[in-house]
Parts: sequence; C-alpha cells; structure tokens
Amino acid sequence: MLQFTFLGTSSGVPTLTRNVSGLAIHYCKSKDWILVDAGEGTQHRIQQAKLSLQHLKAICITHVHGDHCYGLMGLLASAGMNARKDPITLIAPKEIQQWFAVTCQFTELFLPYPIHFIDVNTLTNPFQLDEHISIDVHHLHHRVTSYAYGFKATQTQRKLNVDVLNQLKIPKGKLWGDLQQGQNIEWNGQSVLSQDVLIQNTQSVYAIVGGDNDQPELLSNACQDAALLIHETTYTQSILDKVGAGPMHSSAKMVAEFAESIQLPNLIATHLSARYHDAQGVQSIGNEIAQYYHGNFYIADDFDQYELNMHGELTQFRTGKPWEK
Ligand SMILES: [Zn+2]
Ligand SMILES: [Zn+2]
Repeated sequence: MLQFTFLGTSSGVPTLTRNVSGLAIHYCKSKDWILVDAGEGTQHRIQQAKLSLQHLKAICITHVHGDHCYGLMGLLASAGMNARKDPITLIAPKEIQQWFAVTCQFTELFLPYPIHFIDVNTLTNPFQLDEHISIDVHHLHHRVTSYAYGFKATQTQRKLNVDVLNQLKIPKGKLWGDLQQGQNIEWNGQSVLSQDVLIQNTQSVYAIVGGDNDQPELLSNACQDAALLIHETTYTQSILDKVGAGPMHSSAKMVAEFAESIQLPNLIATHLSARYHDAQGVQSIGNEIAQYYHGNFYIADDFDQYELNMHGELTQFRTGKPWEK
C-alpha cells in the first residue's frame, strides 16, 4: 500500500494556499517515509502535517529548479538537530550533491548522520530501499534534466494453512504462533517446517511521480504497470497556448489525453500555476481533465492524503489543513 501526503502543489512560487513542490510517501504501514522534492518551506509543511524527520528514509529530487529543491538544505540541517544517526538516501541530479557540499563548506553545516547520495542519472536498475519498496527512474523533458520516480511497494502476507495443522494434530496456541513467525517446531518427535504450513501471498502496487515535463507520453512504457500517475498540470490548454512552449510544462489536456490513451486507472494532478489557485481555477483544470480522461482523477490540494491499496484502488482519505481540524 502507498500513501501520499501533498506538502506543496504550486508551480514556481508559493501562494497562501499552496506551497511549492513536496510530496510525502508512506508505504506498507512502515514508520519510514520518502520525500519527493523539497521546495522552499517544505520543512514547515512537514511539521504542519505532523510528519517526523526522524523517520525520513529517502529524498528523491526530480530536477534542480528552485520550486523543487530550495527547501532541501534547511530540511537536512533540521533533521540533524536531534542527533539523528540513521542515514538519509538522497537520489538527485549530481548538481544537488555539489550544492550540498558547498553549503556544508560555506555555512559550516556538519550533519551528525550520513547522506547516501545516488546520482539519479546513474540509476538504471530499480533501487531497493528496503524489503517493502523499490524506486526506479524515468527520463522526462523539461528546461533542465528532469525525472519521474516509480515506487513499487511489495507486501507479503503469511497465513497458516489450518487444514495441514489439523491433519498434523498440532494444537492451537504457542506452536501455531511460532510457525506463523517463520520458526520451525518439534511435534510428536518430528520437525515441522514453517514453510510447509504457511501460505504466502505476495502483492505489489506501482505508482509514478513525475517531475516537470512537457511530454507525458515519455511515460508510456513506465505507466504500463502503474496503478497511479501523479503529474504536473501547470496550465489549461488555452493558457499554455498563450504562454507558449518556453516553460516546457504540460497542460491539463495533454496529461488527460495521455492518461486516456494508455487507459491509466488513476491520476492525480498537481503543480498548478498560481492563476488556478482559487476554486474557479481548480474547476477549470478539473473540467479540462474530465473532458479528455475517463479514469479516476483528483486535483491535489496541499495536505490532501491519498491511499493506493494493493489492488490498485485509489481513495482520498483526508483533505484540508491539519491545524484546522
Ligand atoms: Zn516546477
Ligand atoms: Zn521545473
């Protein structure tokens, strides 16, 4: 299962209602979580969303534009304030590593924990962050090199095969518990192997989180296995036509047409230009997506939370600002 908490959904600049890019991903009921992008102010959003920097396991930066990374240094510094020892994996363009090195040098920043840096450009195979989640990378098209990250969550459920246990006449209780935990036991002078009495069911679900990109079709292959795509819809098509191709962003129409063409089951639109931050603006993005895409979609607000279950079903389970509850 994957859970997504939107910490920033604005393009370019923050407004009073939407901060610049940041997305927290929880997986498989683990306390650990992953941050995708860290626009300025992301650490405040992390506090407001009641997330713990202690459990931040990895950060993935999609590209070097400020609205996606200017919050990174402050966040890394704050994570070191309470004597953190566990490493943070940082997957990012190599320029981010250089920026981090000079920030440490010029501002006398000494982190008490290691950063495990991975140059995103060298990540050709899926990176197994832990037993539950792996991360892979897809190239996008933008003014600077930009990437999408794929997250594959895998969960294994172990159920006791009660028929076999009854045949062996093993009594309920501690012995069943030991077998369920993967321990072998002795019964009636014989060894009973846990693997012989367990039914293992492994399920996985895959979602893609894009960086800035004006060619959604670059994700065609990657999306074949995806139950969810989170993608920028910076403008409606009519405004994109006026602005021109220079900023190299996608319109709601472009993303919706792409999603429809590959029969994507779930889409979350984010990274809205400030001109769409009122209800009417959001509505215009929503109308345009609905016109071209017939799957399940949402337009993310800051602090919205979504869950993608192991069957690939997406639901929104919390909306609005946590301090207003
Ligand atoms: Zn951006
Ligand atoms: Zn950008």
